[in-house]
Amino acid sequence: MHGFDNNYLLLTPGPLTTTKSVREAMAYDVPTRDKGYSELVQKIRNELTDLATQDSGEYTAVLVQGSGTFAVESMLTSCVGASHRLLIAVNGAYGERMAEIASKAGLNYDTLIFEEDCAVAPDEVAEKLKPGDFTHFAVIHLETTTGILNPVMELGEVCAGAGVVFMADCMSSFGSVVFDMKKCKMHFMAASSNKCLQGVPGIGLVVCRRDAMEACRGISRSVSLDLYAQYRYMEDSKGGFRFTSPTHVILALVQALEELREEGGISARNARYCENQLLLSEGMAELGFELFLDKKVQSPVITTFIQPPGGFDFEEMYEYLKKNGFYIYPGKLTKRETFRIGTIGNVFPSDMQLFLDLVEKYINRGAVRFTV
Ligand SMILES: *Cc1c(COP(=O)(O)O)cnc(C)c1O
Repeated sequence: MHGFDNNYLLLTPGPLTTTKSVREAMAYDVPTRDKGYSELVQKIRNELTDLATQDSGEYTAVLVQGSGTFAVESMLTSCVGASHRLLIAVNGAYGERMAEIASKAGLNYDTLIFEEDCAVAPDEVAEKLKPGDFTHFAVIHLETTTGILNPVMELGEVCAGAGVVFMADCMSSFGSVVFDMKKCKMHFMAASSNKCLQGVPGIGLVVCRRDAMEACRGISRSVSLDLYAQYRYMEDSKGGFRFTSPTHVILALVQALEELREEGGISARNARYCENQLLLSEGMAELGFELFLDKKVQSPVITTFIQPPGGFDFEEMYEYLKKNGFYIYPGKLTKRETFRIGTIGNVFPSDMQLFLDLVEKYINRGAVRFTV
Protein backbone atom coordinates (compact mmCIF):
# COMPACT_ATOMS: atom_id res chain seq x y z
CA MET A 1 0.00 0.00 0.00
CA HIS A 2 1.65 3.26 1.14
CA GLY A 3 4.46 1.84 3.25
CA PHE A 4 3.57 3.51 6.57
CA ASP A 5 2.64 1.61 9.70
CA ASN A 6 1.76 2.94 13.15
CA ASN A 7 4.91 1.86 14.91
CA TYR A 8 6.17 5.35 15.57
CA LEU A 9 5.22 8.48 17.49
CA LEU A 10 5.00 12.00 16.12
CA LEU A 11 6.71 14.41 18.52
CA THR A 12 5.82 17.29 16.24
CA PRO A 13 3.53 20.35 16.28
CA GLY A 14 0.91 18.51 14.23
CA PRO A 15 -0.52 16.44 12.79
CA LEU A 16 -0.11 14.39 15.93
CA THR A 17 -0.20 10.83 17.07
CA THR A 18 -3.87 9.90 17.37
CA THR A 19 -5.52 6.97 19.10
CA LYS A 20 -6.44 3.82 17.21
CA SER A 21 -10.09 4.46 18.12
CA VAL A 22 -10.00 7.92 16.49
CA ARG A 23 -8.53 6.43 13.32
CA GLU A 24 -11.05 3.59 13.36
CA ALA A 25 -13.95 6.01 13.68
CA MET A 26 -13.19 7.07 10.10
CA ALA A 27 -13.86 3.68 8.54
CA TYR A 28 -17.37 4.64 7.39
CA ASP A 29 -18.79 6.36 4.34
CA VAL A 30 -21.68 8.56 5.40
CA PRO A 31 -24.35 10.50 3.52
CA THR A 32 -24.15 14.22 4.24
CA ARG A 33 -27.68 15.27 3.23
CA ASP A 34 -29.09 13.27 6.06
CA LYS A 35 -30.35 14.33 9.46
CA GLY A 36 -28.08 11.91 11.32
CA TYR A 37 -24.99 13.53 9.88
CA SER A 38 -26.03 17.15 10.37
CA GLU A 39 -26.92 16.32 13.97
CA LEU A 40 -23.33 15.18 14.47
CA VAL A 41 -22.05 18.45 13.02
CA GLN A 42 -24.32 20.43 15.36
CA LYS A 43 -23.13 18.34 18.30
CA ILE A 44 -19.50 19.09 17.42
CA ARG A 45 -20.26 22.81 17.09
CA ASN A 46 -21.89 22.85 20.51
CA GLU A 47 -19.09 20.88 22.13
CA LEU A 48 -16.42 23.15 20.67
CA THR A 49 -18.27 26.19 21.96
CA ASP A 50 -18.53 24.64 25.41
CA LEU A 51 -14.82 23.85 25.39
CA ALA A 52 -14.01 27.44 24.44
CA THR A 53 -15.97 29.04 27.27
CA GLN A 54 -17.99 27.96 30.27
CA ASP A 55 -20.51 30.66 29.56
CA SER A 56 -21.22 29.75 25.94
CA GLY A 57 -24.67 31.30 25.48
CA GLU A 58 -23.59 34.11 23.21
CA TYR A 59 -20.95 32.09 21.34
CA THR A 60 -21.05 29.77 18.35
CA ALA A 61 -18.63 27.58 16.40
CA VAL A 62 -18.20 27.46 12.64
CA LEU A 63 -16.34 24.65 10.89
CA VAL A 64 -14.20 25.40 7.86
CA GLN A 65 -12.94 22.74 5.45
CA GLY A 66 -9.15 22.74 5.29
CA SER A 67 -6.16 23.03 7.59
CA GLY A 68 -5.80 25.58 10.37
CA THR A 69 -4.49 28.30 8.08
CA PHE A 70 -7.76 28.20 6.13
CA ALA A 71 -9.61 29.00 9.35
CA VAL A 72 -7.21 31.85 10.20
CA GLU A 73 -7.47 33.30 6.70
CA SER A 74 -11.24 32.93 6.74
CA MET A 75 -11.44 34.66 10.13
CA LEU A 76 -9.17 37.60 9.25
CA THR A 77 -10.58 38.28 5.79
CA SER A 78 -14.21 37.89 6.88
CA CYS A 79 -13.88 40.19 9.90
CA VAL A 80 -11.73 43.02 8.66
CA GLY A 81 -13.64 45.09 6.13
CA ALA A 82 -12.82 48.12 4.02
CA SER A 83 -13.59 50.55 6.83
CA HIS A 84 -11.51 48.67 9.40
CA ARG A 85 -7.87 48.64 10.45
CA LEU A 86 -6.11 45.59 11.90
CA LEU A 87 -3.14 45.38 14.26
CA ILE A 88 -1.24 42.07 14.23
CA ALA A 89 1.22 41.19 17.00
CA VAL A 90 4.08 39.06 15.70
CA ASN A 91 6.57 36.98 17.69
CA GLY A 92 7.05 34.03 15.37
CA ALA A 93 6.30 32.50 11.99
CA TYR A 94 2.56 32.05 12.55
CA GLY A 95 2.18 35.74 13.40
CA GLU A 96 4.11 36.52 10.22
CA ARG A 97 1.71 34.29 8.32
CA MET A 98 -1.24 36.35 9.58
CA ALA A 99 0.53 39.44 8.25
CA GLU A 100 1.05 37.68 4.92
CA ILE A 101 -2.67 36.85 4.77
CA ALA A 102 -3.57 40.47 5.55
CA SER A 103 -1.12 41.73 2.94
CA LYS A 104 -2.33 39.43 0.14
CA ALA A 105 -5.95 40.22 0.93
CA GLY A 106 -5.20 43.93 0.80
CA LEU A 107 -6.43 44.53 4.35
CA ASN A 108 -5.61 47.79 6.04
CA TYR A 109 -3.18 46.56 8.72
CA ASP A 110 0.00 47.12 10.67
CA THR A 111 2.25 44.82 12.68
CA LEU A 112 3.81 45.09 16.12
CA ILE A 113 6.91 42.91 16.15
CA PHE A 114 8.54 41.25 19.16
CA GLU A 115 11.62 39.03 19.49
CA GLU A 116 10.90 35.32 19.08
CA ASP A 117 11.77 34.59 22.72
CA CYS A 118 9.63 37.44 24.10
CA ALA A 119 5.90 37.21 24.82
CA VAL A 120 3.70 39.87 23.24
CA ALA A 121 3.67 42.76 25.73
CA PRO A 122 0.16 44.06 26.57
CA ASP A 123 1.43 47.56 27.47
CA GLU A 124 3.09 47.94 24.06
CA VAL A 125 -0.11 46.77 22.36
CA ALA A 126 -2.10 49.28 24.45
CA GLU A 127 0.28 52.05 23.41
CA LYS A 128 -0.07 51.14 19.74
CA LEU A 129 -3.88 51.03 19.98
CA LYS A 130 -4.06 54.35 21.81
CA PRO A 131 -4.45 56.72 18.84
CA GLY A 132 -7.72 54.91 18.15
CA ASP A 133 -7.31 54.13 14.46
CA PHE A 134 -7.37 50.35 14.86
CA THR A 135 -10.65 48.44 14.97
CA HIS A 136 -9.29 44.87 15.22
CA PHE A 137 -6.38 43.15 16.96
CA ALA A 138 -4.99 39.68 16.19
CA VAL A 139 -2.44 37.57 18.04
CA ILE A 140 -1.18 33.99 18.18
CA HIS A 141 -2.06 32.56 21.61
CA LEU A 142 0.58 29.84 21.52
CA GLU A 143 3.29 30.60 18.95
CA THR A 144 4.19 27.09 17.84
CA THR A 145 7.34 28.41 16.14
CA THR A 146 9.00 28.36 19.55
CA GLY A 147 6.36 27.11 22.00
CA ILE A 148 5.91 30.53 23.62
CA LEU A 149 2.62 31.49 25.29
CA ASN A 150 1.21 34.97 24.78
CA PRO A 151 -0.92 36.56 27.54
CA VAL A 152 -4.43 36.49 26.03
CA MET A 153 -6.13 37.45 29.28
CA GLU A 154 -4.21 40.73 29.55
CA LEU A 155 -4.45 41.34 25.80
CA GLY A 156 -8.22 40.89 26.02
CA GLU A 157 -8.35 43.61 28.67
CA VAL A 158 -6.29 45.91 26.48
CA CYS A 159 -8.57 45.29 23.48
CA ALA A 160 -11.71 45.85 25.55
CA GLY A 161 -10.23 49.10 26.88
CA ALA A 162 -9.48 50.27 23.35
CA GLY A 163 -12.83 49.07 22.01
CA VAL A 164 -11.30 46.81 19.35
CA VAL A 165 -12.36 43.34 18.21
CA PHE A 166 -10.01 40.71 19.67
CA MET A 167 -9.09 37.77 17.43
CA ALA A 168 -6.69 34.98 18.36
CA ASP A 169 -5.12 32.05 16.60
CA CYS A 170 -5.50 29.37 19.28
CA MET A 171 -4.44 26.55 17.00
CA SER A 172 -2.09 24.78 19.40
CA SER A 173 -3.52 26.14 22.66
CA PHE A 174 -7.10 24.94 22.20
CA GLY A 175 -7.21 21.60 24.03
CA SER A 176 -3.79 21.98 25.63
CA VAL A 177 -4.08 25.13 27.74
CA VAL A 178 -6.93 26.10 30.04
CA PHE A 179 -8.45 29.43 29.02
CA ASP A 180 -11.95 30.81 28.68
CA MET A 181 -12.79 32.92 25.64
CA LYS A 182 -15.35 34.99 27.48
CA LYS A 183 -13.05 35.71 30.41
CA CYS A 184 -10.36 36.66 27.88
CA LYS A 185 -12.88 39.00 26.22
CA MET A 186 -12.08 37.29 22.93
CA HIS A 187 -14.44 37.78 20.01
CA PHE A 188 -13.00 35.20 17.61
CA MET A 189 -10.59 32.34 17.89
CA ALA A 190 -9.33 29.96 15.21
CA ALA A 191 -8.22 26.37 15.80
CA SER A 192 -8.19 23.03 14.01
CA SER A 193 -9.15 19.39 14.33
CA ASN A 194 -5.66 17.95 14.30
CA LYS A 195 -3.81 19.66 17.10
CA CYS A 196 -4.62 19.27 20.77
CA LEU A 197 -8.17 18.08 20.17
CA GLN A 198 -6.32 15.01 18.84
CA GLY A 199 -8.48 14.52 15.77
CA VAL A 200 -7.15 14.05 12.24
CA PRO A 201 -6.27 16.91 9.84
CA GLY A 202 -8.94 18.41 7.60
CA ILE A 203 -11.12 20.80 9.58
CA GLY A 204 -10.38 24.31 10.68
CA LEU A 205 -12.73 25.95 13.15
CA VAL A 206 -13.63 29.37 14.44
CA VAL A 207 -15.41 29.94 17.74
CA CYS A 208 -16.85 33.43 18.05
CA ARG A 209 -19.37 35.69 19.64
CA ARG A 210 -22.59 35.60 17.65
CA ASP A 211 -22.98 39.37 17.59
CA ALA A 212 -19.43 39.79 16.28
CA MET A 213 -20.14 37.19 13.60
CA GLU A 214 -23.36 38.93 12.58
CA ALA A 215 -21.28 42.07 12.00
CA CYS A 216 -19.22 40.20 9.36
CA ARG A 217 -22.00 39.88 6.86
CA GLY A 218 -20.90 40.87 3.36
CA ILE A 219 -17.26 41.59 4.25
CA SER A 220 -15.49 38.60 2.69
CA ARG A 221 -14.45 38.81 -0.94
CA SER A 222 -13.89 35.06 -1.17
CA VAL A 223 -16.56 32.47 -1.84
CA SER A 224 -15.05 29.44 -0.10
CA LEU A 225 -13.46 31.31 2.82
CA ASP A 226 -16.47 33.51 3.62
CA LEU A 227 -16.88 32.75 7.32
CA TYR A 228 -20.17 34.57 7.61
CA ALA A 229 -21.68 32.64 4.67
CA GLN A 230 -20.41 29.39 6.19
CA TYR A 231 -21.95 30.35 9.56
CA ARG A 232 -25.26 31.38 8.00
CA TYR A 233 -25.53 28.14 6.04
CA MET A 234 -24.62 25.98 9.03
CA GLU A 235 -27.22 27.78 11.13
CA ASP A 236 -30.01 27.74 8.54
CA SER A 237 -29.45 24.13 7.47
CA LYS A 238 -28.83 23.03 11.08
CA GLY A 239 -25.43 21.47 10.51
CA GLY A 240 -24.87 21.52 6.77
CA PHE A 241 -21.66 22.43 4.97
CA ARG A 242 -21.87 24.70 1.91
CA PHE A 243 -19.41 22.54 -0.04
CA THR A 244 -18.35 18.88 0.24
CA SER A 245 -18.18 17.99 3.88
CA PRO A 246 -15.03 16.30 5.26
CA THR A 247 -17.12 13.37 6.48
CA HIS A 248 -14.35 11.09 7.71
CA VAL A 249 -12.66 13.94 9.53
CA ILE A 250 -15.97 14.76 11.23
CA LEU A 251 -16.40 11.17 12.39
CA ALA A 252 -12.86 11.18 13.79
CA LEU A 253 -13.51 14.49 15.54
CA VAL A 254 -16.67 13.16 17.21
CA GLN A 255 -14.58 10.33 18.65
CA ALA A 256 -11.67 12.62 19.56
CA LEU A 257 -13.99 14.94 21.51
CA GLU A 258 -15.44 11.97 23.34
CA GLU A 259 -11.93 10.87 24.30
CA LEU A 260 -11.10 14.39 25.48
CA ARG A 261 -14.11 14.19 27.79
CA GLU A 262 -13.10 10.72 29.00
CA GLU A 263 -9.60 11.98 29.78
CA GLY A 264 -11.17 14.57 32.09
CA GLY A 265 -11.39 17.57 29.79
CA ILE A 266 -8.82 20.19 28.88
CA SER A 267 -7.41 20.55 32.42
CA ALA A 268 -6.57 16.83 32.57
CA ARG A 269 -5.05 16.91 29.10
CA ASN A 270 -3.07 20.00 30.08
CA ALA A 271 -1.72 18.11 33.11
CA ARG A 272 -0.55 15.20 30.92
CA TYR A 273 1.10 17.53 28.40
CA CYS A 274 2.77 19.48 31.24
CA GLU A 275 4.17 16.27 32.67
CA ASN A 276 5.44 15.26 29.23
CA GLN A 277 7.06 18.65 28.71
CA LEU A 278 8.67 18.76 32.15
CA LEU A 279 10.16 15.30 31.73
CA LEU A 280 11.40 16.14 28.26
CA SER A 281 12.90 19.53 29.06
CA GLU A 282 14.59 18.38 32.25
CA GLY A 283 15.86 15.20 30.62
CA MET A 284 17.22 17.04 27.59
CA ALA A 285 18.84 19.67 29.82
CA GLU A 286 20.53 16.87 31.76
CA LEU A 287 21.84 15.53 28.48
CA GLY A 288 23.31 18.97 27.80
CA PHE A 289 20.77 20.53 25.44
CA GLU A 290 20.00 24.18 26.04
CA LEU A 291 16.38 25.35 26.00
CA PHE A 292 15.56 28.35 23.82
CA LEU A 293 12.77 29.79 25.98
CA ASP A 294 12.60 30.94 29.55
CA LYS A 295 10.45 28.60 31.68
CA LYS A 296 8.07 31.44 32.50
CA VAL A 297 6.81 31.68 28.90
CA GLN A 298 7.26 28.02 27.88
CA SER A 299 4.06 26.14 26.97
CA PRO A 300 3.50 22.39 27.42
CA VAL A 301 3.02 21.92 23.67
CA ILE A 302 6.38 22.13 21.99
CA THR A 303 9.91 22.83 23.17
CA THR A 304 12.68 24.47 21.18
CA PHE A 305 16.26 23.34 21.81
CA ILE A 306 19.36 25.14 20.63
CA GLN A 307 21.56 22.99 18.43
CA PRO A 308 24.78 22.37 20.36
CA PRO A 309 27.99 23.67 18.81
CA GLY A 310 30.82 21.30 17.97
CA GLY A 311 29.79 18.88 15.24
CA PHE A 312 26.12 18.32 16.11
CA ASP A 313 24.28 17.03 13.05
CA PHE A 314 20.50 17.45 13.31
CA GLU A 315 19.79 15.37 10.20
CA GLU A 316 21.79 12.49 11.59
CA MET A 317 20.02 12.57 14.97
CA TYR A 318 16.68 12.92 13.17
CA GLU A 319 17.36 9.78 11.11
CA TYR A 320 18.52 7.87 14.19
CA LEU A 321 15.38 8.76 16.14
CA LYS A 322 13.17 8.01 13.13
CA LYS A 323 14.75 4.58 12.73
CA ASN A 324 13.86 3.99 16.36
CA GLY A 325 10.26 5.14 16.17
CA PHE A 326 10.19 8.89 16.87
CA TYR A 327 9.68 11.78 14.50
CA ILE A 328 10.91 15.17 15.72
CA TYR A 329 10.81 18.56 14.00
CA PRO A 330 13.37 20.99 12.66
CA GLY A 331 13.56 24.52 14.06
CA LYS A 332 11.89 27.48 12.39
CA LEU A 333 13.83 30.39 13.80
CA THR A 334 15.55 32.97 11.70
CA LYS A 335 18.40 33.81 14.06
CA ARG A 336 19.50 30.52 15.64
CA GLU A 337 19.93 26.89 14.68
CA THR A 338 17.35 25.01 16.71
CA PHE A 339 15.17 21.92 16.67
CA ARG A 340 11.77 21.24 18.22
CA ILE A 341 10.14 18.41 20.07
CA GLY A 342 6.39 18.23 20.59
CA THR A 343 4.82 16.78 23.72
CA ILE A 344 1.21 16.68 22.52
CA GLY A 345 -1.09 14.09 20.97
CA ASN A 346 -1.59 10.57 22.24
CA VAL A 347 1.83 10.48 23.93
CA PHE A 348 2.57 9.89 27.58
CA PRO A 349 5.36 10.37 30.14
CA SER A 350 6.48 6.78 29.51
CA ASP A 351 7.01 7.69 25.84
CA MET A 352 9.08 10.69 26.89
CA GLN A 353 11.27 8.42 28.97
CA LEU A 354 11.79 6.05 26.03
CA PHE A 355 12.62 9.04 23.87
CA LEU A 356 15.16 10.42 26.34
CA ASP A 357 16.81 7.01 26.65
CA LEU A 358 17.19 6.98 22.87
CA VAL A 359 18.69 10.48 22.74
CA GLU A 360 21.15 9.45 25.44
CA LYS A 361 22.06 6.37 23.43
CA TYR A 362 22.53 8.51 20.37
CA ILE A 363 24.89 10.87 22.16
CA ASN A 364 26.90 8.06 23.67
CA ARG A 365 26.99 5.72 20.72
CA GLY A 366 30.46 4.76 19.40
CA ALA A 367 32.88 7.62 19.36
CA VAL A 368 31.36 10.85 20.63
CA ARG A 369 31.07 13.03 17.57
CA PHE A 370 29.85 16.19 19.21
CA THR A 371 30.06 17.69 22.64
CA VAL A 372 27.09 19.15 24.36
C1 LIG B 1 -0.55 24.59 13.22
C2 LIG B 1 -0.76 26.02 13.35
C3 LIG B 1 -1.47 26.75 12.39
C4 LIG B 1 -2.12 26.14 11.19
O1 LIG B 1 -1.27 25.45 10.41
P1 LIG B 1 -1.84 24.49 9.28
O2 LIG B 1 -0.58 23.90 8.74
O3 LIG B 1 -2.56 25.30 8.31
O4 LIG B 1 -2.73 23.51 9.95
C5 LIG B 1 -1.67 28.10 12.61
N1 LIG B 1 -1.21 28.69 13.71
C6 LIG B 1 -0.51 28.04 14.66
C7 LIG B 1 -0.07 28.77 15.87
C8 LIG B 1 -0.27 26.68 14.51
O5 LIG B 1 0.39 26.02 15.46
